[in-house]
Amino acid sequence: MNLDLAARTSRVEPSATVAISNLASELEAEGVDVVDLSVGEPDFPTPENVVEAGKAAIDAGHTGYTPSTGIPALKEAIVEKLDADGLDHTTDEIIVTPGGKQALYEVFQTAVDDGDEVVLLDPAWVSYEAMAKLAGGSLARVDTAQYDFALEPALDELAEAVSDDTQLLVVNSPANPTGAVYSEAALEGVRDLAVEHDVLVISDEIYKEITYGVEPISLGALDGMGDRTVTLNGFSKAYSMTGWRLGYFAGPQELVSEAGKLHSHSVTCATNFVQHAGVEALRNTDEAVAEMRDAFAERREMLLDLFDDHGLDVPAPDGAFYMMLPVDEDDQSWCEAVIEEAHVATVPGSAFGTPGYARISYAAAEDRLREAVSRLAENEFI
Ligand code: PMP
Ligand code: GLU
Repeated sequence: MNLDLAARTSRVEPSATVAISNLASELEAEGVDVVDLSVGEPDFPTPENVVEAGKAAIDAGHTGYTPSTGIPALKEAIVEKLDADGLDHTTDEIIVTPGGKQALYEVFQTAVDDGDEVVLLDPAWVSYEAMAKLAGGSLARVDTAQYDFALEPALDELAEAVSDDTQLLVVNSPANPTGAVYSEAALEGVRDLAVEHDVLVISDEIYKEITYGVEPISLGALDGMGDRTVTLNGFSKAYSMTGWRLGYFAGPQELVSEAGKLHSHSVTCATNFVQHAGVEALRNTDEAVAEMRDAFAERREMLLDLFDDHGLDVPAPDGAFYMMLPVDEDDQSWCEAVIEEAHVATVPGSAFGTPGYARISYAAAEDRLREAVSRLAENEFI
């Protein structure tokens, strides 16, 4: 049959982060010892009390559909978390989704029409570009690499990119893939532009619990941003719950209500017992989150020292669990050679819009990180 498929998916490539991680798994299945620093996935088990809450919810029979936008107990816990971050939302301004990715997808589909302009801060996480394109949007990109990934020095360039034609601006702080945490002055600059040009902003705060000595700020808490910010979060990173698939977004009532139609016609609701585990994650995991953060902090220090020993100048990340290594301009070939010859999996910066870098995730055990650096050195990649 001549399949005449929709043009929509032909506009995008498969997720590079997921594809490289799949390749690493394939090599491992063939018996190759790969140090996989590609995918951003905490290497810790989900905190035990969260696992127990999930099991208890299954035992208690929470296995049917839930209200489409989420169970009241979880939405109330989310309202309290947002309130602690200075964000004022009611439960009807929230949709609980199977993962943060689905939340983003719903927001893009609801906010962006064919030809609408979406502004990204590069390097930007791979799926923003794909989601903008799937919604028919066109992209304007502002590069922060020249400023060691800080946003404040790039505000002039951002001012050139944002205009009255801009529909949506995506801000991700702490950022994937750079680990940058944007300063208050930088976010105020974003606010001023968003207000001046009447732009909707997504604030992706999925790494907000993972910072090193700096206080992350919620963009929606700044004056003038409350009614134009969609705040997005998920449970994958902070609570090491990648496979549970749980996330949410909170935003202006009108947008949330429109997105609710898409949500109800696609996923219906997030998994029932997973939402119950999510309540426990939000309410009782301070210690577990702090332990994981401390472990990431140690690994970050260790890696920065090791790279420094090898004369590699790596911008120090203030959050998340990624670093961007400066590599050959042809970063794709560099990453391919590194996985083939050194058996270390990394993601090329060009997948994030910024060639000349490779992203590593240090959500991996310390000995594996050491092993990765020595393999890179032995094979003369650094
Ligand atoms: N936003 C960012 C910046 C991410 O890195 C990820 C990673 N997967 C997500 C959203 C979505 O994560 P998840 O779907 O696992 O909640
Ligand atoms: N966000 C993580 C990453 O960038 C997980 C994979 C993905 O969803 O892209 O590696």
